[in-house]
Amino acid sequence: MSKLFFSGDGSAKVDAIVAFGQMFQDDPDPGKVNLVVGVYRNAKGVTPVLDCVKGAEERLIGEETSKAYLPLAGEAAFVAGAGKLVFGAGHRRLAAGQIHSVQTPGSTGALRLAGELVRQRVPGASVWLGTPAYSNHRPIFQACGLGIQTCRYYDVARGVTTFADMLADLEKARPGDVVLLHAVCHNPSGADLTPGEWERLARFMAERSLLPLVDAAYLGIRGPLDEDAAGIRILADICPEVLVATSFSKNFALYAERVGLLSVVASSPADCAAAAGDLAAIVRALYTSPPSHGARVVATILSDDRLRALWVGELEAMRGRMLDMRMKFADLLDRHQVHGSVFPHIRDNRGMFVLSTLTADEVGQMREEDHIYLLDTGRLSVAGMNEADLPKICAAISRVTRHRFDTGNAG
Ligand code: PMP
Repeated sequence: MSKLFFSGDGSAKVDAIVAFGQMFQDDPDPGKVNLVVGVYRNAKGVTPVLDCVKGAEERLIGEETSKAYLPLAGEAAFVAGAGKLVFGAGHRRLAAGQIHSVQTPGSTGALRLAGELVRQRVPGASVWLGTPAYSNHRPIFQACGLGIQTCRYYDVARGVTTFADMLADLEKARPGDVVLLHAVCHNPSGADLTPGEWERLARFMAERSLLPLVDAAYLGIRGPLDEDAAGIRILADICPEVLVATSFSKNFALYAERVGLLSVVASSPADCAAAAGDLAAIVRALYTSPPSHGARVVATILSDDRLRALWVGELEAMRGRMLDMRMKFADLLDRHQVHGSVFPHIRDNRGMFVLSTLTADEVGQMREEDHIYLLDTGRLSVAGMNEADLPKICAAISRVTRHRFDTGNAG
């Protein structure tokens, strides 16, 4: 019998984050350093289970009575609690019954579900991604059969957002197109929109019938949660329709449990119900119902004053450590006389990543000579950095970039 399905060269590739993560795993060097992945690690290099999660799990062991399937839309207590977290308990669109949320397998699941919903409703729609983009956005929306367009979001060399360029590019978007926005801690740059820019962008999109889709993977990682959700709430105030994909991987350190939420903000309860029906049909065919454990943990934490306060403190501690690591890294880069143009605005940007101007060649040298792994786009994670590794990292960066600033051959 001739081969039909599994022949060929396996040319479909996973995105760079997975690929570089795998290269790190395969490297036998005992001193290797992983700056690829966006996972928080404490001073001991461990990604801990939060105490609030342990507390919730202890309660669940005693109280949970069934592992029967969850409804298609997920655990009701989680959906209600998480929705209030994202939009604020008193948001008028929540009170007006204009927001429908469903629990999803991580926010990756929420983004995919959003893409599937858009493809059903507006089959010819394109998704506009700001550049540089998170490497999994394009594959997610391409898999939904949507077109991809790009707009300029961030100038890597200058280390700043390019809001005017973004609007100029979005002038070309057609009504019904989707604009993908990062709520906070833009991945990969760490540079976010100001409240004033969110407001201008919201009006711009509302006037042109563009649909904002917010990727909220890092709420509570830049600053207090309500501050980090401000952009989402501005959109919900101004735009008739909004999609929000929220992750609970980072802020609850529940990565492996796959806890996410997709929220549809619609113009009326009737539109909400229609979207809910579409989502239920898509979920049924994709995975039928989401996993229960992580969502029950989050619901338990959010509904218990003591556990919730514990969570807020632990989130603050993770945020503080990442910021501290960013600043220590920046200080040591200075001491190693790494030119400022290699890490522009490192101290001003926020989140798990810094985006450098390191080239693929320089990144390759660090990988081969120092066993230090980062993306060849120059993105590296401060969330997984360890103080003990900082001198080695900075020395390597200083060495591989020195050729750029040698004045010997300057004419
Ligand atoms: N969006 C962005 C911008 C991310 O950085 C990530 C995680 N790295 C995700 C989505 C996916 O998160 P989740 O674990 O919830 O699927």
